[in-house]
Amino acid sequence: MSDIGKRRYWVFDLDGTLTRPVHDFARIRTELGLAPNSDILASLAALPSPQRERQMALLDELELFYAEQTEPASGVVELLDLLYLRDCRLGILTRNSQTVALRALTAIGADCYFDVQDVLGRDEVRPKPDPQGIELLLARWCTTPDNAVMVGDFRYDLEAGKTCGTATIHIDHGVHTPWPELTDLRITSLSQLLEIL
Ligand SMILES: [Mg+2]
Repeated sequence: MSDIGKRRYWVFDLDGTLTRPVHDFARIRTELGLAPNSDILASLAALPSPQRERQMALLDELELFYAEQTEPASGVVELLDLLYLRDCRLGILTRNSQTVALRALTAIGADCYFDVQDVLGRDEVRPKPDPQGIELLLARWCTTPDNAVMVGDFRYDLEAGKTCGTATIHIDHGVHTPWPELTDLRITSLSQLLEIL
């Protein structure tokens, strides 16, 4: 898709997209007593009350702990700076809580590029691959999907973008088989994206 660089409305996944992919989902699953590779949010949602509430509180604690240790993806500040200078609107759509997302953005020096209300977590909207978060941001920004890009490192990010009708960029760390049917542009780092833009 040749017009990606001209689009002015950018929605980013957080973990493994703007941050280094060190968020330790495997350790979080172990601490919560979940099966390897299980969907954390779906597994907790299926628990009976009050175990569900207890485990969700523990998840919040673990995520805050890992957010403090977040490191920036290579090229992240340079990329956000370029988009900011081009007058782009930037948002975040994450399966984390908004509190954890803001903590991680601060840790990587990127909080200044985002309005707090444009950082959407699991308590603001339905989690990806549901496109509700992208739709909400586009409505708030008074724009349409053909002016927007969704950037992420996982299938859920790309599915959310495709369902909504935005362009999609896959940051491919080489851990998953690529999803060409969901991807308009596949790159291996934000630094590479910076060169293209
Ligand atoms: Mg991710």
